[in-house]
Amino acid sequence: MSAATSTGNAPQPLYSGKAKSLYPYDEKHYRMVFRDDLTAFDAVKKATMKGKGFYNSQIAATLLPVVEKAGVPTHFVKLLSDTEHLVRKVRIVRLEVLVRNIAAGSIVKNYGFAEGTVFKKPIVMFDLKEDKFHDPLLNEDIAEALGVSNADEMARLRAMALKVNTALRGYLEPRGLLLPDFKLEFGYDLEGKLILADEISADTCRFWDAKSKRSLDKDVFRFDKGDVLATYKEAFERITGKKAA
Ligand code: C5P
Repeated sequence: MSAATSTGNAPQPLYSGKAKSLYPYDEKHYRMVFRDDLTAFDAVKKATMKGKGFYNSQIAATLLPVVEKAGVPTHFVKLLSDTEHLVRKVRIVRLEVLVRNIAAGSIVKNYGFAEGTVFKKPIVMFDLKEDKFHDPLLNEDIAEALGVSNADEMARLRAMALKVNTALRGYLEPRGLLLPDFKLEFGYDLEGKLILADEISADTCRFWDAKSKRSLDKDVFRFDKGDVLATYKEAFERITGKKAA
């Protein structure tokens, strides 16, 4: 996310990322707004689709409590509106935690796994959160040298990410959905507790229909696989159990 510039009298975000904006709320909380923007490939590909912010906000507001119930604390407090989350203030750890159950995306491109390979155990990877270097892979030593993290913290992040994986798979599989992979971000709350931040949505996860292996996530936008908004809508309906208007 980058610091936003001021325009007119509209409330200004503290930060504006590729698909969400963060506004002040009170001493302990922010208001996180899910926008209708979509980006891919380090924002080289961009679009805006009305309703996309709603679908992702609702998916995240369903899945974050699933994770919380499984014992991983998150920044999510409640929905303020259909597209706005009340979230705890956190200091973000500047890395992304990727969990992979089935080979797709960059692990196919970079390591040569056949797409769809089911891993015997989940693979956890860490990327530096830095678009200008295309989010390079991190290990403990590089993370420590950069001042981004350290081995102890990364071990805790790995354990939390695996717990998230088990909770999400347990929720999604009965709904006929596979979870090939996803990305998580963590941060420290005001009490210094390590918690899950950001979102769990069709932007940050791959969801596949278990039977057809059809993508129900941002890959449809990335790779022009079909009707993007209809895909987000289907992901929303299957994950939340609600009917879209
Ligand atoms: O691109 P890659 O295949 O490594 O992505 C793995 C998973 O992490 C995908 O579900 C993707 O949506 C998510 N991801 C993300 N943000 C990134 C990189 C990956 O949400 N910056």
